[in-house]
Amino acid sequence: MNTGFALVLQRLYEVTGYSPRGSAAQKNARCPAHDDRQPSLTVGVKQDGVVVMNCHGGPKCPTKDIMAALNLPMSALWPTELQKHSSNDDRWMPCGHDKVAEYLYRDQDGTVLYGVARCEKKGQGCQGFRQWRPDPSKRSGRRWSLQGDDGNLAVKLVPYRLPEVLAAVREERVVMICEGEKDVEALRARPLITATCNPMGAGKWRPEFRQYFHGADVSIVADRDEPGRRHAETVVASLMPVARSIYVVQAAHGKDASDHLSAGGTTGDFIEVWVPKPYEYEEHNG
Ligand SMILES: [Zn+2]
Ligand SMILES: [Zn+2]
Repeated sequence: MNTGFALVLQRLYEVTGYSPRGSAAQKNARCPAHDDRQPSLTVGVKQDGVVVMNCHGGPKCPTKDIMAALNLPMSALWPTELQKHSSNDDRWMPCGHDKVAEYLYRDQDGTVLYGVARCEKKGQGCQGFRQWRPDPSKRSGRRWSLQGDDGNLAVKLVPYRLPEVLAAVREERVVMICEGEKDVEALRARPLITATCNPMGAGKWRPEFRQYFHGADVSIVADRDEPGRRHAETVVASLMPVARSIYVVQAAHGKDASDHLSAGGTTGDFIEVWVPKPYEYEEHNG
């Protein structure tokens, strides 16, 4: 799967509300750059991974306008070295276990800042994940550490799927904050849901993440355990001064969001456990 193509299709769905239809490599979609009543945009991916799009509607919108309407950089159209590497069945990670998932953390403009690879041996002598950062001097394109030679952080840390978080805050949609990338992916697979987490799991929320949540309506999914409860408290305290509303919920089935959803739960039937900052309708008196 070409990640640029998948990202473009995902954003087309989010922005136009119309799920692109067609074959694996060629889709019809609604054009986000003009008022498109029919799917007059074709989007395809070439053998080499390059994404091509054409608006066949009245205005024949240029690709740069379409990408701007999707809030994506033009670079998302071309496969990066990184994407080429990660699209191979490259399962190696430094803990020696098979990689089962990989999550890319992007800055607001879509640039990949770092990645997290996950194995399935958490609790069996392995922490279950390893971070890497892009490094063009390495044959694999990555260096398996977020620290520079001086021992300091060599990357800017951001919440997972930051561009989607910022779009949701701007469009006044709820942002769900859960504990890990696997939960985020399970949540955002549901229609109209935006979800995020901090890197490295419970207890690793960073105060500077607050800057992305000004005016946000937030729903925190706390894991059903002691670290989960403490983590939710930390996130609440951090966002209290800036968020518009904050609710804390828990899974009705199992321990976390992925358990809840895979047991048949929906995004609407989490159990509300705490309302630190209720949503208040603004009164506009004439
Ligand atoms: Zn158009
Ligand atoms: Zn491992």
